[in-house]
Amino acid sequence: MKPAPFDYLRPGSLTEAVSALAGDPGAKVLAGGQSLVPLLSMRLAAPTLLVDINGLPGLADVTVDDAGVTVGALARHADVLASADARRVQPLLTLALSHVAHATIRNRGTTVGSLVHADAAAELPVVLRLLGGSVTVQGAGGSRTIPADELYVGPLESSLAHDEIAVSAFFPALAPGAGVAFDEIARRHGDYALVGAAALVHDDSVRVGFLSVADVPTVVDLSGVPDDRLGRVALEHLDPAGDVHATAEYRAHLVTVLTARVVQSARRQVEGAHA
Ligand code: FAD
Repeated sequence: MKPAPFDYLRPGSLTEAVSALAGDPGAKVLAGGQSLVPLLSMRLAAPTLLVDINGLPGLADVTVDDAGVTVGALARHADVLASADARRVQPLLTLALSHVAHATIRNRGTTVGSLVHADAAAELPVVLRLLGGSVTVQGAGGSRTIPADELYVGPLESSLAHDEIAVSAFFPALAPGAGVAFDEIARRHGDYALVGAAALVHDDSVRVGFLSVADVPTVVDLSGVPDDRLGRVALEHLDPAGDVHATAEYRAHLVTVLTARVVQSARRQVEGAHA
């Protein structure tokens, strides 16, 4: 199918981009286009105006320091994946990114675009939540930083206002002595996962984030839960649904398998660091 007609603007400044959004309630931001363009082609979205942010200066950097990884809105998944510093400071980001789509899509799709697209089947939103990261946005009313726990409000729905553009995302560094792991089951590598899980283990704290098992990316605190009950306790907080790809029962089974797997793997990482 072809998209419904729309106007197109490629602003040269953030101010111009924000005011274009503010001036048209039917306008949408275009970043890498890897989610939006298919939606346009299937006519599941029909914006009146596309505000293409690819010409905005200063938004393509991946900046790493001891505090964490800051990803600009125009940094592609591939840029983040290629950063050895990002891998060192926050390995969970790299682990999860290696499961996002295929190389051609990662070359174009943006990490920040994925975060604000707010797909509960995507890898990065749950990683941002698990790590306690944030997204910084610029709107007509100024700039603000949204903690990941306040970013996801419903299926494909973030808390960004219509005239706000996400300019960067921040993934905190891995604390010394902490361990992380990521795993997912997909029909083919690069497909959206049937279920995915990410673990963050630190001292007695055990937290696991899940994708594809609820309307929003969901993190469950499993601290103090005996190993043989991890999956079952996680399921009490999740609502796996059935679809053409997997039944609800199969997804629930995958939750139990993946929970045990990622927690064990994160613990092994901690033990390896202490050995
Ligand atoms: P766009 O498609 O340009 O935009 C997506 C949405 O976010 C739009 O609503 C847009 O208005 C909004 N938006 C984007 N950037 C901003 C911004 N800076 N400020 C405000 N709003 C913004 N993703 C996964 O996570 N896992 C997968 O396994 C996976 N598989 C894929 C397989 C295929 C075949 C395809 C085509 C895509 C797949 N993706 C997958 C999606 C991919 O990761 C996208 O790159 C990502 O979801 C969106 O990033 P984008 O830059 O392409 O955003």
